[in-house]
Amino acid sequence: MDQPPHPALPLVTTVADLRQTVGAWKRQGLTVGFVPTMGALHEGHLTLVREAGQQADRVVASVFVNPTQFAAHEDLGSYPRQEARDAELLAGAGCHLMFAPTTDEMYPEGFSTGVSVGGPAEGLETNFRPHFFGGVAVVVAKLLNQVQADVAVFGEKDYQQLMVVRRMVRDLDIPTRIVGAPTQRDGYGLALSSRNAYLSADEIEVARRLNGILALAAADATAGGSVAEIEAEATKSLLTAGFTKVDYVAIRQADSLATFDDDRVDRPGRILAAAWLGKTRLIDNMAVPAG
Ligand code: AMP
Repeated sequence: MDQPPHPALPLVTTVADLRQTVGAWKRQGLTVGFVPTMGALHEGHLTLVREAGQQADRVVASVFVNPTQFAAHEDLGSYPRQEARDAELLAGAGCHLMFAPTTDEMYPEGFSTGVSVGGPAEGLETNFRPHFFGGVAVVVAKLLNQVQADVAVFGEKDYQQLMVVRRMVRDLDIPTRIVGAPTQRDGYGLALSSRNAYLSADEIEVARRLNGILALAAADATAGGSVAEIEAEATKSLLTAGFTKVDYVAIRQADSLATFDDDRVDRPGRILAAAWLGKTRLIDNMAVPAG
C-alpha cells in the first residue's frame, strides 16, 4: 500500500497491490464497483462513485491520465492534475480504494497490443480524433481486467464512449456489467467537465448555451423535423452564440449511433455535439425521444 494522499482513502499504484486488496474483498464475499477517471474530479465523477456504491459493496476509482487517447497536439501535458484533492473528494463520496498507476505500470517497455473498435466507434469523435477510441479501448480493457469489478460506471457525458465500452465488453466477454449514469450539469445546464477549467468567464457564458441549443434541436427532431435540417440549424445557432468552431452536431440512433435512414427520428435517438471555444473543445449530448 502506498502513502495515501488522504488519510481516509487507501491508495495503490501497482496492479499487484490492487489485486491483493480486491482479492481480499472478494474472498469475503463482497461485490466490487469500479469508476475509471482521469482525475481533476468534479461532481459528475462523484455521482458515478455514489452510483457504484449503490450497486456494489466496495468501490475502486482509478485516476490515470491515459496518454494513448491524446494526440500529439492535444492537452496531455496541461491536463489538470490534483491527486490530493481528488483523494479527498473520492473519500467523501464513499470510495474505498484509489488506484493511481504510473504510465510505466500501465504501458511497460515493449507494450504493443491494441484493441480495434468499430460499430459505435465509427464517425462522430473518430472523424476528429481518430486515435481516441483505440486509446480508450486499450486502457478501459486493461483497467477492467486489472480491477475485475462486478460493475463499472461510466458517464453519459461521454455518450459515444459509453456505447463503445458497452460494445467492447460484450464482444470480448469481459465479465463486468457496464452501467451508464446521467450527465451532471451546473445550474445553467453546462455539463460539468474537467476541461471547463480552461474556460474564461466570457467563454463560460457561451458554453452554457450549448445545452439549450441541443434541447431545442432535440425537441424539433421529436416533433418530426428533418434530421439534416435540424443538425444544420443547431450548428448555425452554436456559431451565432459564440462558439468558434463546430466539429459536429449529429442526431443518431440511441444505441447503435447509426444514422436515421429516412431523415426522421422514428425510434429513440440521441443528439451529440462537439464544439470549440478558442482552444477548448466541449462535448455534450442528450436523449431525443421518438416522436
Ligand atoms: P474523465 O475523467 O473525463 O475521463 O471522465 C471519467 C468518467 O466520468 C467518464 O465515465 C465520464 O463520462 C464521466 N463524467 C465526466 N463528466 C461527467 C458529468 N458531467 N456527468 C456525469 N459523468 C461525467
